Amino acid sequence: MSPDQPPATTPCPACGTGVSHRPLYRQRGLPVQSCLMPASAGDAGAIARRDLELLQCLECGLVFNRHFDPSTQVFSPGYEETQGFSPTFRRFARDLAAQLNQRWTLNGKSVVEVGCGKGEFLALMCEQGQCHGLGIDPAHDPERRPESAPDRVVYEQRYFDRTDIGLKADYLVCRHTLEHIGPVGEFLATVYEVCRAGGIGEVFFEVPEAARIFEEGAFWDIYYEHTNYFDATALEQAFARAGFETTGIEWLFDDQYLGIYARAVTNPPDSTAPPRIFSGQLLEETCRYWYERIRQAHGQVVIWGSGSKGVAFLHAVDPDGKVAAAVDINPYRQGRFMPGTGQPIIAPENLKSLQPALVIIMNPIYRAEISAMLDDLGLSPDIACV
Ligand SMILES: [Zn+2]
Repeated sequence: MSPDQPPATTPCPACGTGVSHRPLYRQRGLPVQSCLMPASAGDAGAIARRDLELLQCLECGLVFNRHFDPSTQVFSPGYEETQGFSPTFRRFARDLAAQLNQRWTLNGKSVVEVGCGKGEFLALMCEQGQCHGLGIDPAHDPERRPESAPDRVVYEQRYFDRTDIGLKADYLVCRHTLEHIGPVGEFLATVYEVCRAGGIGEVFFEVPEAARIFEEGAFWDIYYEHTNYFDATALEQAFARAGFETTGIEWLFDDQYLGIYARAVTNPPDSTAPPRIFSGQLLEETCRYWYERIRQAHGQVVIWGSGSKGVAFLHAVDPDGKVAAAVDINPYRQGRFMPGTGQPIIAPENLKSLQPALVIIMNPIYRAEISAMLDDLGLSPDIACV
């Protein structure tokens, strides 16, 4: 590039502003789908990979991966994202469903869930609230319809799109989906039209809380599937641009998630709060810390949690496979391999033969639950939480 050429920019997927290429964080060759469960170490190593380079839009505050390619994201029933096997996570889901029921008095009403996954959360809401439910998700597996789902809950294995304009419902829920969508501004505009046409009174969206990621250097929360990273200001901005008025923002699950309530209105307020600008310095520092910690361990090291956090963690700090295995309580993951780095995914019981010296927990919210399981197994390794 010659010196008098302007710097290259990429349009912000939320607001369209040109964002210059000064990355906050970079990873080369990340697995494009960390929830796919390879059946062998060979398959795990051969998984499709792409680069990640996070930029921040100075206009609206969105942080996004400029290399994100939506065509790499094939959602099918083989996508194993559920955290529903953990009692801690189930308690959180139950409390959140109760909160939505209380806010919306759902009895006899109808709710749509976009990106419902296996459908457990919608089943909970409809069971608690005696309401009707429609769950939409290309990764929904009809074979694994939740047993608790009442008959008045219907699941459709497909994408939510403009053909849903005209769909009638009282409320719309969308959890852990927005961060996966490349053209996120366009998607929210579609949600707005669906709400206006279908008489939807209020929506609730939940996303990972991005301020925490940059403030704590939580590099394990940055992975290819998540192309968008919102803090509260950026989230509210994105909704305002699409035509929504924010009716509530809250921090959930030990402040790891951000929830937003919003209504589709005729004249959305101008969001004037300036975006918060983040730096990637802490991400580099925590990467270095864990790289060293793993190398200094005397004995076997395992991580606990084989989901996306585990995949991102191993990719960043264990390039040469010092970590022996990833433990997971989800039986659908056990016997499979970590996408990219290829460690086996094992059941907690398998730790008895492995006798680990260090267990690194991928989410501190599960620490009590995991410590109790290690006690029951008669193991007393060092326990560290990311
Ligand atoms: Zn923007």
